[in-house]
Amino acid sequence: MCGIIGYNGKENAIPIVIDGLKNLEYRGYDSSGIAYFHNDKIKIIKEKGRISELEKILDDDKSTLCIGHTRWATHGKPSRVNSHPHASGEITIVHNGIIENYASLKEDLISKGYKFLSETDTEVAAAMIDYLYKEEKNKLKVLEKLEDVLRGSYALLILFRDDKDTIYALRKGSPLIVAKSKTGNLVASDIPAILDYTKDYYLLDEGEIAIIGKKDIKFYREEKEIKKELLTFKFDIGSAKKEGYKHFMLKEIYEQPKVIKNYLEHYLNNMDLIPDLSLYEKIHIVACGSAYHAGLIGNYLFSEYGDIEASCFVASEYRYKKNFINDKTLVILISQSGETADTIASLRLAKESGAKTLGIVNVVGSTIARESDEVIYINAGCEIAVATTKAYTLQVLTLSLCAYKLGLIKGKIDKQLEKELKVSYKNLPKEIEEILKLDYKKYATKIAKSKNVFFIGRLLDYYICEEGSLKLKEISYIHSETYPAGELKHGTISLIEKNTPVIAVITDKKIAEKTISNIKETRARGAYTLVLKQKDIEISHDIYDDVIEIEELSDLVSSILTIVPLQMLAYYVADSLGYDIDKPRNLAKSVTVE
Ligand code: GLU
Repeated sequence: MCGIIGYNGKENAIPIVIDGLKNLEYRGYDSSGIAYFHNDKIKIIKEKGRISELEKILDDDKSTLCIGHTRWATHGKPSRVNSHPHASGEITIVHNGIIENYASLKEDLISKGYKFLSETDTEVAAAMIDYLYKEEKNKLKVLEKLEDVLRGSYALLILFRDDKDTIYALRKGSPLIVAKSKTGNLVASDIPAILDYTKDYYLLDEGEIAIIGKKDIKFYREEKEIKKELLTFKFDIGSAKKEGYKHFMLKEIYEQPKVIKNYLEHYLNNMDLIPDLSLYEKIHIVACGSAYHAGLIGNYLFSEYGDIEASCFVASEYRYKKNFINDKTLVILISQSGETADTIASLRLAKESGAKTLGIVNVVGSTIARESDEVIYINAGCEIAVATTKAYTLQVLTLSLCAYKLGLIKGKIDKQLEKELKVSYKNLPKEIEEILKLDYKKYATKIAKSKNVFFIGRLLDYYICEEGSLKLKEISYIHSETYPAGELKHGTISLIEKNTPVIAVITDKKIAEKTISNIKETRARGAYTLVLKQKDIEISHDIYDDVIEIEELSDLVSSILTIVPLQMLAYYVADSLGYDIDKPRNLAKSVTVE
């Protein structure tokens, strides 16, 4: 969560940091602030709300060194006083993450005479650094010591009042990148913040410290200087811009045919890049949010096509329970950012238990990518909207290719089926383009009036409904629930009233009849029914109010097509309600805290 950026160089740093914060706002938007050297003093300006609120109170100052932060509050409500940067004595910092032992540290520091203004854990970290600095006096030694003192996860940018030419940076658990531009040096929590200036960057590793001067950047580990590899961001810079679309979410929905086509060309022609899952006795898929919904589909496809015992778990649960895994288990971790705290913890737990691990991630060089035994990059490019769309579909596609390869190796997919599946993969981008041409606004306006929406489907269609429902909740704030279609009548049907929307998905012919009966049950109780179905599945007109039809594809591939109308519906419902779609309330893109 939260966006951090710093600039130190020849130019005026303040507009650079403000622009960088705008590019990072998807990571947190409760409040924002900056700190810079001005007449040899550190000046802090911060404000509650969006960065536009901060801009209103900026002075005309100029400074060649500035750090900034856009917050996703964990300790203390969003307010000006709780906003970052936080200062204590000699020290000013911005922080991403949580200091878990902040309460005991705070007590200790109060007894030493420190005073606190905010409710944050961050101010405690600032005071602690100040205390250590006054004791130790050597900056590098103090920063090295922090790992023993601060528990939890953090990325920190630190200014020392007595060193107006340097930004100090370190991380544990939360990501940081460092980059050189033509006029100076940058440090940020994510790539979009630096893309206007450079594509080359260094990835700061756990336990490393960066000392960022006006010209040089030095890296240290255990007090020794180290050399680091310069990496290059390979995607189109345009992919972090809105390019004429009203929202990033809409742009990212429309990007799906292209990124899927590129992905398939890359991986279908290089199936060696997809790991051999037949080496394992069982598979656990572990993820959070939409990535978990992708995992549910993968789980089903592995069993159906790969004939292997597979289970899917929410990472925040998995990390705290007995999982019965060993070296014959493959644990698959899915995360767009590769920095999801609970998924990282599950990865480490799996490795300790001797299991092999496979990361499915978007962000190159992220923690999950680096720590997994194997990694598949989904190559979605930058995904800026908080509600994921293209990263989700590429996660499903990755799992689909894993199941496909497993089915081929195990002989569960014969020549004829292989041929059909290849056709389905090939047609997928084109079919998504077709489905994007439909008019979703007319259904969206009916749904936008409701307080409750229900999604129903069976098996794959149910898993897709889970994701469709989450999209709707995230951005339109309409309560919605998903049920396996047969389950609704075991209690929840009591909530169906006149005009309650029930969105039903039917793409599986084998069980279509069953779902149709369940739709009838809701319609008999007055529901407004919108059916999303494959064209070749026959249904009579009296079971639906509206219908959206999609092309028939193999079920190894079909979910990737089925989700697109539900993404569009959620988008247009939220748009008709006038919400800030790319930055829904209370959310942030990359969940780096537990
Ligand atoms: N824990 C800190 C706070 O609540 C940092 C949160 C963040 O990562 O934005 O202020």
